[in-house]
Amino acid sequence: YLNNEILEPKVSNLVRPPDEIDQYERANATFISLVRNSELQGIISAMKEVEKKFNKNFNYPWTFLNDREFTKKFIEKVQKNTNAECHFIRIPSHLWDKPFNIDSNREKEGIKYLINENIQYANKISYHNMCRFYSGNFYNIDHLKNFKYYWRIEPSTSYFTKINYDVFKFMELNKKTYGFTISLYDSPQSVHTLWNATINFLKQNLHYINKNPALDWLLYDLQNPHHNAITSGYSTCHFWSNFEIADMDFFRSKPYTEYFNYLDNEGGFYYERWGDAPVHSLGLALFEDKSKIHWFRDIGYKHFPYFNCPNNPDCEGCEKGSFSEYANLNDQNCLPTWIKYEMTDEQLNLY
Ligand code: GDP
Ligand code: MN
Repeated sequence: YLNNEILEPKVSNLVRPPDEIDQYERANATFISLVRNSELQGIISAMKEVEKKFNKNFNYPWTFLNDREFTKKFIEKVQKNTNAECHFIRIPSHLWDKPFNIDSNREKEGIKYLINENIQYANKISYHNMCRFYSGNFYNIDHLKNFKYYWRIEPSTSYFTKINYDVFKFMELNKKTYGFTISLYDSPQSVHTLWNATINFLKQNLHYINKNPALDWLLYDLQNPHHNAITSGYSTCHFWSNFEIADMDFFRSKPYTEYFNYLDNEGGFYYERWGDAPVHSLGLALFEDKSKIHWFRDIGYKHFPYFNCPNNPDCEGCEKGSFSEYANLNDQNCLPTWIKYEMTDEQLNLY
């Protein structure tokens, strides 16, 4: 499949850039970027690319989130890069801070284990807060309750393809819940007990499991069979959540909300380093119809050190068909499992 030319999805309902952008009726969508004041340069560079490759034709609004107050300088410099509305939101501390019920001795023990296993950011409380926030709470921020779809943008990411259709309307018109570009394996130590916790939740809530779940992707580990021993069976495959185009109503639904609350109560965002990527991915794979999950094959994207680089004449700046600049990272790619077990022929032929 990598040798085929990848253009845009072959559906008849792509919505093209409008002639008069002021008259355009957008989907109910916003960009979302959680970012620190110190990442001003990184967010501007990502924003410039998104605007140039996509948003200058559509003017979707931007929402910037921060656990601290954004500085005046940050706000002024960011707004200059788009004609669209920008919103700068401070996250209420109850949605960000470590909950009071976290046992600090257990937390210390957990961090010690993770450091020993060389798990990145093990010791950074703000990183644990971030993972918990993006797993569970971001879509309940008052300002975001106004929106259904979002596209998550991280500082210093790159966008290589000119996108000549409205991706949010693509989601809406084709009934997609979640769009991704990259699928990876995770460090199994960071999600040591996540699968067991998930099984325990499911035992009490079997009726939440979708009739068409993406189970094989969660269970079959083609590349890293040693993972399953550490995680009690979870392959660690996940959608890399620094790129997401998705429907927040899925995360606001009863099954996902209860699932997140259950996980939050288990404490694994602090006793381990459960990431928002595996948590979103498990939720989607279990509670959503897998046909509603869309691989945006056509969108060239990079977050160091991985990329999705389609064989597309409109894609410039990355090596076509490759996954990372570092050959030794190729075994981190879980996309082959997704393609093999979870994609229908129809989806494979969509491009
Ligand atoms: P990595 O991609 O896993 O290496 O983690 P990042 O450092 O890129 O963090 C993921 C996202 O969360 C990025 O958009 C960061 O800007 C943001 N982020 C991480 N920690 C914090 C924090 O403490 N405060 C704020 N405001 N944003 C954060
Ligand atoms: Mn990042």
